[in-house]
Amino acid sequence: MAQENVNVVARIRPSSYKTNDETCIKIDPISSIITSTTNQKQFHMDKVFEQNATQEEIFEYVQPIIAAVINGIHGTIFAYGQTGSGKTHTMIGSDENLGIIPCAIEMIFIALNEEAKNFNISCTFLQIYCEKTYDLLNGNEKIEIHSSDILKNAKEVEVKSSNECMKILERGLEQRKVSGTSMNETSSRSHAIFILTLKTQYFKENKRHERISRLNMVDLAGSESRKHTDNNKTQNFEASNINKSLLTLGQVIRSIINPIPKQVIPYRDSKLTMILRDSLGGNSKTTVIVNIHSNSKYAAETISTLNFAVNVK
Ligand code: ADP
Ligand code: MG
Repeated sequence: MAQENVNVVARIRPSSYKTNDETCIKIDPISSIITSTTNQKQFHMDKVFEQNATQEEIFEYVQPIIAAVINGIHGTIFAYGQTGSGKTHTMIGSDENLGIIPCAIEMIFIALNEEAKNFNISCTFLQIYCEKTYDLLNGNEKIEIHSSDILKNAKEVEVKSSNECMKILERGLEQRKVSGTSMNETSSRSHAIFILTLKTQYFKENKRHERISRLNMVDLAGSESRKHTDNNKTQNFEASNINKSLLTLGQVIRSIINPIPKQVIPYRDSKLTMILRDSLGGNSKTTVIVNIHSNSKYAAETISTLNFAVNVK
């Protein structure tokens, strides 16, 4: 069932406030229900990772997705949440605290080398900013996405070792930083999509075949509402575009989980869902990690994030 292929989990970041730390949520770890202390609404997650959850625990949870990709099924992992809630920490992490992407790279190369799996690995790294797609492995050049051959214009770099793959990831992250300063701090306002493509060659009835599976790991744009702080046109334009693609993502995931006969899944309504179209739905596995900064100062954003989480299920 599609339902089992999509998980929505919450990760609460450690608070940055040392004293009198008021939180805006209550967590029941057994039922995985988060209650907003602001409006008493209850939000049911597939799992809740509390403040002290380690990077290892998070990776252990998503590991089945990477195992599925190794076995030929597409997988996608999203980090959703307001800026500062821990999305990049979850996806990338640091040298001492590796996030999901470096751990996934490691796991895939171990499978390739130790289980003698027979596939080629390549990476693609894109960012979407204001509904335009840029190639982080090719000088942040703007590229067009075609519905027939989605990644045709994106640079795909084949990698032979986890070290080589990490270097490519770092190169793209560096590019994201550089383009961030020239494009008005885009990094919190753009979606970053790191894609590992595994290609397996095999023979069947004397013919050569190729099986492709993809692992998409997405550090989404900050989900915060910018209504109150924005007073210039660029920022308003940005905010509406960011919210549009997050909105479309929510709608797409929701219609995969709760299919309505004859309803068309609105993949084409945003660049993000167009790029991920083949990897969302069907047998594909998806986990959405909603990151939460639970200080009462962020109560409104927290409710909005929790609403996103429960609305997709
Ligand atoms: P985002 O990408 O959502 O804007 P970041 O991942 O950059 O947020 O997190 C903001 C800050 O909080 C960073 O300094 C990060 O290292 C720290 N942080 C976030 N989550 C955690 C966590 N679970 N454990 C330790 N530090 C965290
Ligand atoms: Mg970030």
